Amino acid sequence: MLVDSHCHLNFPEFKDDLDAVIKRAEEKGVKTFLTINTKLSEAKDIQKIADHYPNVFCTVGAHPHDAIDHNYEGVYEDLIKLAQHPKVVGIGETGLDYYYENSPRAEQIESFRTHIRASIELDLPLVIHTRDADEDTLTTIKEFPKAKGVFHCFSGSRDLAKAALDLGFYISFSGIITFKKADDLREVASFVPMDRVLVETDSPFLAPIPHRGARNEPAYTYITAMKLSEIKGISLEDIARQTTLNFFKLFNRF
Ligand SMILES: [Zn+2]
Ligand SMILES: [Zn+2]
Repeated sequence: MLVDSHCHLNFPEFKDDLDAVIKRAEEKGVKTFLTINTKLSEAKDIQKIADHYPNVFCTVGAHPHDAIDHNYEGVYEDLIKLAQHPKVVGIGETGLDYYYENSPRAEQIESFRTHIRASIELDLPLVIHTRDADEDTLTTIKEFPKAKGVFHCFSGSRDLAKAALDLGFYISFSGIITFKKADDLREVASFVPMDRVLVETDSPFLAPIPHRGARNEPAYTYITAMKLSEIKGISLEDIARQTTLNFFKLFNRF
């Protein structure tokens, strides 16, 4: 059994055929899904999806892209309140994205801190999105010794992975590890210890080879798992077992 530890099932790309998408994933052994919140205004939609499918869980949080809309007074209280839903198992995705910088950096850092505070208060893990912001991401996390969670869709350097592991975080790999130009990332994947690895699709984005450019969907978690099995020289069964174990150990509000 596999877990898609990061997908966006409420996005319009899945509006017409979510039942079929879930069914196709289950046929490929993907039996648990974590659908990730990117805007608090969509938290209720996501919770509805999680209510509908017994094996879909969800998070509450605002993407760093949208940080500027999520630093209003009372956002901390909103995070805490929305996280009371029984299928919320994590906080995010939050973090820092200096590649797109859709929100100013200071706003992103402020929003990130608020999410970390809420996650500690709730004792729920963080789902962290970080791109071209290694130093500030690590500095912000280190302000909160109790912070825990996962660096999702990892595409950073070996140094960043090592720092994240040293802080006790998990590392989640997506279909990017199948891309031709991702040798450096495959090298990172080869050294991350098996008890700290998760897999995800980040669907509907980032479809793995051979589906690159098309809509991504949770079924393709198995492609990333297969690639990981090849990189690490470990059987697909062991990859599936260990990444599933890791998922339930980290997201343990079940
Ligand atoms: Zn992300
Ligand atoms: Zn995402």
